[in-house]
Amino acid sequence: MSALPPGSMIGILGGGQLGRMLALAAARLGFKCHIYSDVDGSACQVAAATTFGAFDDLAKIEAFAAAVDVVTYEFENVPLAAAAAADAIRPVRPGPRALQYSQDRLEEKRFVSWLGIPVAPFAAVEAPADFDAALRTVGTPAILKTRRLGYDGKGQARIAGPADLGQAFDEIGHAPATLEGFVNFALEVSVLLVRSLEGEVRFYDIPVNRHRDGILRVSSVPSDLPAAHRDRARAIAETIASSLDYVGVLAVEMFYAGGDAGEPLIVNEMAPRVHNSGHWTIDACAVSQFENHIRAIAGWPLGTTDRHSDAEMHNLIGEEVNRWPELAAARSACVHLYGKGEARPGRKMGHVTWLKPR
Ligand code: AMP
Repeated sequence: MSALPPGSMIGILGGGQLGRMLALAAARLGFKCHIYSDVDGSACQVAAATTFGAFDDLAKIEAFAAAVDVVTYEFENVPLAAAAAADAIRPVRPGPRALQYSQDRLEEKRFVSWLGIPVAPFAAVEAPADFDAALRTVGTPAILKTRRLGYDGKGQARIAGPADLGQAFDEIGHAPATLEGFVNFALEVSVLLVRSLEGEVRFYDIPVNRHRDGILRVSSVPSDLPAAHRDRARAIAETIASSLDYVGVLAVEMFYAGGDAGEPLIVNEMAPRVHNSGHWTIDACAVSQFENHIRAIAGWPLGTTDRHSDAEMHNLIGEEVNRWPELAAARSACVHLYGKGEARPGRKMGHVTWLKPR
């Protein structure tokens, strides 16, 4: 397919802040965006058109797809039936297979380990009858995670010893789950790559990520990852992307165990979309992850992923957003606010990237 010309309409499934930043980047290239969302989310404020509908309303999804030139998504829990319905009318990029694996932690772990990539030991837990076998495979300490719909640390319970598994299963509401071995990591990092329609791959610099209560707080570049391990991390992410014939930005979160570890890099999860740990690319790179995602799905040449500044991105969570006047006055701070209403605890309201020219 040839490149979509400026003026084309890009359809985005999902109306949150990632959709908003995609739409802003698309506008820079002369594209318009049509958001499909079940709520009046922050992306709707900056889009040319919005369809409000449920993600299981396939007739509405089809009408939406028919009104755009290409479809992408900003969250990985788009139902597969919705992605398939849209894909029958307009290309969905990245393709629905990436969704299939990333929306089910068990399928994702199986897929990634099938590719020969290290993951934490894992086992399926559907019912108490699975506890013994899962504990034998995984050991403790461990984390019980719901297979589906977990994000920002939700749907997870830690277990210190075998006796805790019953209570952890209660805590996650007896949902189908995976038990994962606890990884003693030195750093958490993420590989952000973009892959074009022709299969060209470019990488952003690898950020180191700090979480609190399962929520990303800070991403910074450069990281202390030694060059050999950086190359290995990139090769792992590229293997995943090429095996899916992936188009767009892919984020692969990894645990880095440290230089002497037998297995220095362990994949935690992948996100088939632009990612919070890549928000610094808006201000520290000439072409951000958002613009490169739009370029890739529109069949354009990829833009540079080079970084011109060191950067530290801090999420503004809940009431932290009220710091905006002070941040707006700080010289090296790039402030991004998502236009969300209520600053509920745990809600991502914006982010600030602190820049230091290299
Ligand atoms: P996740 O939803 O899988 O990204 O988990 C959220 C956060 O919990 C991760 O970024 C880690 O900080 C922590 N975490 C998740 N899985 C593990 C694990 N197997 N070992 C150690 N920490 C983990």
